[in-house]
Amino acid sequence: MAEETIFTKIIKGEIPSTIIYKDDQACAFLDINPKAEHHVLIVPVKPIPTVSDVEPEDEPMLGHLFTVARKVAEKYGVQKSGYRLIFNCGPDGLQEVPHIHMHFLAGGNLGLAGFPVKAGKKA
Ligand code: AMP
Repeated sequence: MAEETIFTKIIKGEIPSTIIYKDDQACAFLDINPKAEHHVLIVPVKPIPTVSDVEPEDEPMLGHLFTVARKVAEKYGVQKSGYRLIFNCGPDGLQEVPHIHMHFLAGGNLGLAGFPVKAGKKA
């Protein structure tokens, strides 16, 4: 089993966060440092460190993250206007928290929101 991360603690309610959706497989909460008007992290309860650690048995649970993303899009009324979903993976992908998470970004034309301004540097 992977080590506990800050996201595991958020899911368990051990540290504060603004949770907007939760079920037995996934949790969605507001990013503490938003890169867009609406920036939500959609996180599986299972603490898989990165996409490189995904196993075939994880497919249904990871597919479920997209159903949660759809619910989040409906919550913000952006299902037609659009939004961006991002997974950062590993050091070169600038992944900071080693617990797989889908970034949901929305709110007007996103431009490069969620992407580093320059390679190797966070926006
Ligand atoms: P990544 O770089 O893909 O690993 O993204 C990690 C994200 O987690 C960043 O956008 C951070 O702003 C966010 N983050 C870090 N700590 C917290 C926290 N305590 N609550 C909510 N979001 C957080």
